[in-house]
Amino acid sequence: MQIRGILVVLATLLGLVGSARADLKVVTTTPDLAAVAQAVGGGHVQVTALALSTQDPHFVDARPNLALELAKADLLVLVGLDLEVGWLPTLQTASRNADIQRGGKGYLDASSLVPLLGVLAGKVDRSQGDIHPGGNPHYMYDPRRAAKVAAGVARRMAELDPSNGQGYLANAKAFSEKLQKWQRHWEAGLKQLKGRKVIAYHQSLTYLADWLGFEVVIHLEPKPGIPPNPGHVARVIEFGKQNGVKLMVQESYYPVKTSELVVQKMGAKLAVLPGGTNFQGGESYLGFVDQCVKRLTAATQP
Ligand SMILES: [Zn+2]
Repeated sequence: MQIRGILVVLATLLGLVGSARADLKVVTTTPDLAAVAQAVGGGHVQVTALALSTQDPHFVDARPNLALELAKADLLVLVGLDLEVGWLPTLQTASRNADIQRGGKGYLDASSLVPLLGVLAGKVDRSQGDIHPGGNPHYMYDPRRAAKVAAGVARRMAELDPSNGQGYLANAKAFSEKLQKWQRHWEAGLKQLKGRKVIAYHQSLTYLADWLGFEVVIHLEPKPGIPPNPGHVARVIEFGKQNGVKLMVQESYYPVKTSELVVQKMGAKLAVLPGGTNFQGGESYLGFVDQCVKRLTAATQP
């Protein structure tokens, strides 16, 4: 009797029995997707992000503990468009979880849910260093697209867990409405950015520019994924001066030294945006966009 009692306690602690277990275990590649999945899933899901907001999502270490997360997942949500091609396939294979392999019932490529930008016509050669061969994957910088992702995630969660389906769909709707309200506030606060010429470090502002109406005229990386070199940096400074560029934007996971030199030479300002939602620290997706807006505001104030 005593041993049996101990076993029950152990099993409960391990989450094997009782109501503590979430209905769906969701794993996302990036913390932005995790924050959206959490908003949609509420108390019925347990969400884990494989990458941190301080990591460049193109280059994540495929550590074995990440494969363990995937082994237990009911649903994998990824950004797609080759963003994770350098590390996710290895983890999927190592997880031995059939559901989350490409085409599986628990595999959701979120790029299928949003209108894409930067899709090049014809054959693109990855060997030349371009890490955005199938279209630009940085769409989570646009809250309008995040709302579409939320709706798609809710539909898939409802398929996997029909008993909570209505709840997922209602949560996605509420998320989208809240985001829309904030969007108007953010857009009004960043009116000054409309039509402005901006320099970006990486080709990651395509959707942010599309949302806020600014124009990215040149990148510090000569090609997406290729670090800046002195010759190209000199060209960027010259180009920026000629075009009167007053703002440069980069993510916090890139080094700031070169960017600081560039803005100093041009008499411009640098906005360093968070690389993603600090999901592990409890930040929401809305909180992340708000941070981006605040930093852009600070760098564009007269
Ligand atoms: Zn990129």
